[in-house]
Parts: sequence; structure tokens; C-alpha cells
Amino acid sequence: MARQAFLIGEHRIGPGSRATVNLELPGLYTNDPVSMPVHVLHGRGDGPVLFVSAAVHGDEINGVEIIRRLLRMPQMKRLRGTLLAVPIVNVFGFHNRSRYLPDRRDLNRSFPGNEGGSMAGRLAHIFTTEIIARSDVGIDLHTAAIHRDNLPQIRADINDPILEPLARTFSAPVLLHSAAPFGSLRGTAAAHGVSVMVYEAGEALRFEELSIQIGVRGTLNVLRRLQMLPPSKRKPSRPSAVLRSSSWQRAPQSGILRAQSRLGDMVGKGEVLGIVADPNGDSEMPIEAPFDGVVIGRTNLPLVFEGEALFHVGRTRQTSLLEQHLDALNDGSNIAPPEVIEEPPIV
Ligand SMILES: [Zn+2]
Repeated sequence: MARQAFLIGEHRIGPGSRATVNLELPGLYTNDPVSMPVHVLHGRGDGPVLFVSAAVHGDEINGVEIIRRLLRMPQMKRLRGTLLAVPIVNVFGFHNRSRYLPDRRDLNRSFPGNEGGSMAGRLAHIFTTEIIARSDVGIDLHTAAIHRDNLPQIRADINDPILEPLARTFSAPVLLHSAAPFGSLRGTAAAHGVSVMVYEAGEALRFEELSIQIGVRGTLNVLRRLQMLPPSKRKPSRPSAVLRSSSWQRAPQSGILRAQSRLGDMVGKGEVLGIVADPNGDSEMPIEAPFDGVVIGRTNLPLVFEGEALFHVGRTRQTSLLEQHLDALNDGSNIAPPEVIEEPPIV
């Protein structure tokens, strides 16, 4: 039987073709229309539907570049199944260089949303009905919030038997087992039976080349694992260190932070991660690692209020595996940009 066309919005995309579909969103108050572009690559052969989304938080832009590079790859002509690529979900936040929507809500806490709800709820509803409900699997691309940085990591429920092998195959340095936050895209997808992993890497409002390259290659790894692309002839990616839990260490007092650990540093329980002091240095308070692990997130801003999250430590004993992975990334031997159309890296 001939493969069916893919239906989305009012559009029909035939097998072996690609199209950009603009999903209509609430307009601007200047009466200008706004839409969310969705790139639909409908392969000639049967296979699953994978969505890749970015900028659900409008200022988290590494994923926008990851999707741009993916869409330019010649091997996409050989795709089986269907790829739905949504480079900018929160179009409003992207314009405003903001995590949030103009109604000051967090889109990633507004899922599944509803048609008659808040602005964020309506946007979430459109994404849920047009993208999630048409997909089998998804990858949602994020970065840390503004003035924060994340070590490249996949977050997923590794008790999901469909998701676990896909999350591993992405081959980010770290795979963190975590439950989906309430109201998140990932949580709503799980309720629809759609397995979604989140890729977190780098910081908001910045391009970080290594995070982008790991994201491009990780997405290709997932496409191959799903047999949506032919196997690679390159040597396989290094395995991820699996972290079963993590903990944020918070500022014990307001003051000036002197950070003493970087992303990817292995830390022992009780090791000092940084010191918070008042500007005169009269009252110094250390922040200590809660257990043996690795620093997977941190603030870059030295000005901190009491209670602020400063260092995100993941619990792991796979330190030598992770150190080898990070060393290979840092010396460039574990990254394969030639798979991408040759273009200069972003520095
Ligand atoms: Zn985010």
C-alpha cells in the first residue's frame, strides 16, 4: 500500500517531500499575524514520527541552531518516517529575548493548555494538538536560564522502556534520570504516550559551539536508532554517565559568590564548590558538595540572594567514564562536524 500523506493544520505533505507549515498563533496587538513554523520532512518510507523542538523558553537559542543545521543535512533526503522540526516554539519570547510569554507565564509550565485558556495555555494547546498528538517520540532542546550554564545533558525518565535506549544513544556526556516538571511539555507528552527527552546544554542568549555539535550529533544518533536514517560508518559515540539523582546547592546567605568549581568538575562529598561572603568579606560561608558527583549546572553571576540555586550536582560513581568523555570532547576527538555541511564553527 502506498504511504499516506502527512496531515497537519490544513496541509497535506506527500511521501518523499518536505514543507514548512505555519501554525497560526495569537497575533500582536499591532494587528500583525504571528505563526509558529514547523518543518515537516515526510520520508518516502514508513517509520516513526519524531519531533524536535527548541526555544520553548524563548531565550534558549542553542537548539534553534541545532535544528537549523539538522535541516540542512544532505542525509535528510534519505529519511524514513517523519521529522517535525520546530525551531522556535515560543515565538513571542524569542522576539523579546525572554524565557517567558508576554503574559509573563512560563510556557513549559502551561502544558497541556487549553483552547480558551491564557495566552500560554493556548500556545501549549496548539503544540499539544498539532505536534505532540501526531508524534511517537520527541526531543525538546533547552539551555540553562539566563546567567546560568548547563553541562550538556539529557534529562529523561529512564524507567520508560522506549525512552531509555534512545536517551542513552543520544550520547550526551551526562544522562540524568528525572521526572518531568508539572505542566511541562515532556510531562504532557508522557501522558499522551509520547516519549520525550530534554537536551539541556549551555546558557540562555548564547551560542555554545560544543553544545550545538553534541546536540546535532545526538539527534542524528536518535534518528539512526529509530531506523529513520541509515547506520553511520563513523565510530560510535561515547556512552553517557547515568546520574540517578541530583541536587541544587543554594546560597546560605545573600552576598558575593566566589565560585571554585566549573562545569564538569568531579567533586567529593563535602568539597567546597564556592564561597558566599558579604562584599566586605566579614562573613564567609562555604557551599559544599552534598555527595560524590559532578557539577552539571551552575550560576555565572556572582551576585546572589539567600536561597538562590548556585551549583547543580549530579550523583555518580562513573567518574572515570565521564572524565574520559569530557576529555575527548575538550580535545575535539569525540566530535564529528564533517557530518554537517562544512561551515565555520561559532566561536
Ligand atoms: Zn528551558
